[in-house]
Amino acid sequence: MFSELALHDCLLKATTKLGYTKTTPVQQKAIPLAMTGKDLLVSAKTGSGKTAAFLLPSLHRFLENPAPNSGTRALVLVPTRELARQVVKQCEQFAEFTTMKSAIIIGGEDFKFQKSMFRKNPEVIVSTPGRLAEHIDAGSIDFHDLEVLILDEADRMLEMGLIEDVLRITKSCNPQRQTLLFSATLKHQGLNDVIHQSLKNPESLVLDSHKDKHSQIQQQVILADDYDHKDKLLAWLLEHETYNKALVFTNKKVQASRLSGLMRYKNNRAGMLQGDLSQEERNHVMGLFRNQQIDVLIATDVAARGIDVDDIDLVINYDMPRNGDDYIHRIGRTGRADNEGRAISFVTSFEWNLKAAIERYIRHNFEKRTIDGLAGHFKGPKKVKNSGKKASDKKRIDSKDGDNKDEPKNKNRRRDRKNIGKRRTPTEKSGSGKTAHTRSDDGFSPPKKRV
Ligand code: AMP
Repeated sequence: MFSELALHDCLLKATTKLGYTKTTPVQQKAIPLAMTGKDLLVSAKTGSGKTAAFLLPSLHRFLENPAPNSGTRALVLVPTRELARQVVKQCEQFAEFTTMKSAIIIGGEDFKFQKSMFRKNPEVIVSTPGRLAEHIDAGSIDFHDLEVLILDEADRMLEMGLIEDVLRITKSCNPQRQTLLFSATLKHQGLNDVIHQSLKNPESLVLDSHKDKHSQIQQQVILADDYDHKDKLLAWLLEHETYNKALVFTNKKVQASRLSGLMRYKNNRAGMLQGDLSQEERNHVMGLFRNQQIDVLIATDVAARGIDVDDIDLVINYDMPRNGDDYIHRIGRTGRADNEGRAISFVTSFEWNLKAAIERYIRHNFEKRTIDGLAGHFKGPKKVKNSGKKASDKKRIDSKDGDNKDEPKNKNRRRDRKNIGKRRTPTEKSGSGKTAHTRSDDGFSPPKKRV
């Protein structure tokens, strides 16, 4: 319960207004620890309620210790603009019953306007690293008064090559600050640098490993023959599945564009989100999706990063994601805050190994599904045959030191059959192969020449 967390009344009022009653596991553990002022390393998956887990204790601290003449008191660094928007929105919601202000600093927006925002000294700044590093270089802002630095989705920032900027920013922050690092996984090799350079004696909270099952998400696979077959499956699912909002993932931008056209042609209210869209176009599509003017969004991984739309209840992987982490991020868009969701992945023969690797990675076997009338020819890889070897040959390979008792018998029998009707040499007759013949594994090797 939130009331048990000893948070400031204004914050409890806000969480009640938002309909938060029970804390999520990450909030339950991280909020009290963060309130002690300790540096924290927290592993928590997307959709776990991590944003509240770092915003609430920070806002609580500022309310408890007013500092009217201070500069910015909390800085949240996130990998994407979309995520920055979501975080700042949550911050505004939590701070609704306070006088605290927050600001967003992201690329693609007016630099001068952003400079003027700094002058207002908002308590919280939420930013993507690239643009903020530019402001620091330009001397638009300093973080000498900073009390809390939050690195959200640190693993993503690392994967997106943003860590150099992150480290530059970290170095310019008040060294006495508290640092909270959130990441889907803490085992990412590259994280060590960031941890050593940015945190002091951090406490680790491994709440739910990124590999844990998303138990509230039904995870299915449908075998597919080719793109044509996948198109039919997708059209069928969008027509027959029950869903509020569906998010369809492709690996390539061209595929996303083609599919959104095709699905619209098939009377779906579909939109597309891919990296080539301008910020305005992107905001427009996201607005349509949020307001349910479209209910299908076809997206690439990069473009979909940070999407936080609460009622996505169907994720379709038109293409299998390239690795387990991407799979987890994709399906994390559904089943948020313990809602139920379904993730369906199409798997062709070329994607079978990837599917198997992802199953091993997340330690969960997908449920296999077929659609009547749309079953393809591909039924999974054929069982590997014994490469034409006989069982007796296998036994010979398996048996150590040739101690398989059956083996000589079989070999003799084969040899005997082979040699039926042939005349035996005198040595064979006498049974002494010592002088002229050496027995090899197959029992017949040519006579050795005497040197
Ligand atoms: P996050 O992991 O921070 O992106 O949160 C995922 C979603 O869960 C957001 O839409 C939050 O508004 C929502 N949420 C976070 N904490 C709670 C809670 N305790 N109860 C209900 N919803 C929550």
